[in-house]
Amino acid sequence: MSDTHLNFIAGEWKPSRGGTTFGDENPARRGSDLCRFQASTAEDMDEAITAANEAFRAWRRTPLADRQHYISEFLKLLQKSSEELAAIVTQENGKTIRESRAEVGSALVEGNYHLNQVAAFYGHTGPGAFQDITTWVQYQPLGVVGVISPWNFPMNVMCRKTLPALLTGNTVVFKPATFTPWSGVFMARLFEQAGLPAGVFNCVTGLGSSIGNVIVQDPRVRAISFTGSTEVGKKIQVKAAANLTRTQLELGGKNALIVMDDASIDKAVDAAMTAGFACAGQWCTSTSRILLHHAIAQPFIEKLVARCEKMVVDDGSREATDMGPVAGPQQYEDICAAIQKARAEGARMIAGGDTPNAAQGYFIRPTVFAGVTPGMSVFQEEIFGPVLAVSAFGTLDEALELANHSIYGLSSAIFTRDLANAKAYIDAIEAGLAHVNIHTGYKEPSMPFGGVKQSGSGLPENSESGLEFFIDRKAIYLRS
Ligand code: NAP
Ligand code: MG
Repeated sequence: MSDTHLNFIAGEWKPSRGGTTFGDENPARRGSDLCRFQASTAEDMDEAITAANEAFRAWRRTPLADRQHYISEFLKLLQKSSEELAAIVTQENGKTIRESRAEVGSALVEGNYHLNQVAAFYGHTGPGAFQDITTWVQYQPLGVVGVISPWNFPMNVMCRKTLPALLTGNTVVFKPATFTPWSGVFMARLFEQAGLPAGVFNCVTGLGSSIGNVIVQDPRVRAISFTGSTEVGKKIQVKAAANLTRTQLELGGKNALIVMDDASIDKAVDAAMTAGFACAGQWCTSTSRILLHHAIAQPFIEKLVARCEKMVVDDGSREATDMGPVAGPQQYEDICAAIQKARAEGARMIAGGDTPNAAQGYFIRPTVFAGVTPGMSVFQEEIFGPVLAVSAFGTLDEALELANHSIYGLSSAIFTRDLANAKAYIDAIEAGLAHVNIHTGYKEPSMPFGGVKQSGSGLPENSESGLEFFIDRKAIYLRS
């Protein structure tokens, strides 16, 4: 009998009023049920929003240093439980244990960044321009904030949203993805252990299509920070508009890696392997299109295919595994269907395509398509799996036109030794992240993280904007 986890509302662990639960499958073991979670109802969500709204009154007046103390305690607990948490992420998401450790490590780095940055963020004062008055801009917390996260980074994405929200004096209602609720509930326990006052952080599990809607439509919720698909992001934007609720939407991508004829081929292949197949291609910043200069296309492809064939695809909890399964049955079916479609549309499959140990788990080998043209779905659609689409070009202008031929604009990269190429790419690429001789997934907490076009909307996460999203500005004019 597997454990049943409860919701965390107003500082207490509570079952859903609906009385039903759902399971969590380890994608490396079909049919497994790691533990059970509350299939929450609109009433449960309403209770969590009420708790967060009540807790806001005291939390907003809690001195910054005290808020920092709670978050600092939380980060110490996170550090202490890194190994246990990484094992949970691998079990419920499928990524390799090394990737899960890196995810926890990244949450700690980003959390410490916000913890230190928040003090510098406050304090803008000065004399008035026209009279003997003092003016300043006062930052105020918004109130209750809804955090909705995806399954591909089940603990890091929620931390990147929740910690800046709490540090700036907001209270949070968090809904984890249904595929990966365990790490979300684990984070709630850490907040409880850190001594956070009741109601300041609440976690409610259940389906996005039901309780996700409730949190987006409730007028007491002042902002929604969402990471997930472009399709759901658009629905949230529309619903949030009814109350002018602020949104921060981090959405899908179809990220291009451009390789020029003067590039180091080995380094470019390394970048394609890292960002193409880490987490089985399920980073939002995964490389999914590779654009090769004609002159180096052949040697690049040969090296890439040889590396793909060597990859060990297996249960992510084994240290020898290079790539784990994809996250669940739906992803598995969608990715297999996208591979079939690419073949039917005439793309040439030069690596992978097969599904080893299919009876055991949702494994798909690293798959590469060559001869891809912009009209093909494998060039256009976010597959969110270990599938690379390779196209060739003659000039940098052509490469940029291909790269920008997408509804998405999240990340990108170019490999070149020529500074003029690098500069032209930086100026022209339509993406929130631009990398020169670095893979598409690289990021740092002091830099904004967000997409353009249909990859995102609202202020980006991380950097100063990651804090700014969670405050209102009040213009103060004071005459004594
Ligand atoms: P998703 O299906 O859009 O789900 C994301 C979250 O939204 C889940 O918690 C989901 O709940 C919830 N949800 C679903 N329908 C909802 C609704 N109508 N109202 C409110 N919430 C709702 O995305 P996913 O499949 O979990 O994640 C993969 C996607 O995320 C990819 O497109 C990827 O590119 C993107 N992503 C983007 C970034 C970035 O920073 N740009 C980072 C990571 C991932 P349920 O799980 O219960 O359905
Ligand atoms: Mg799972």
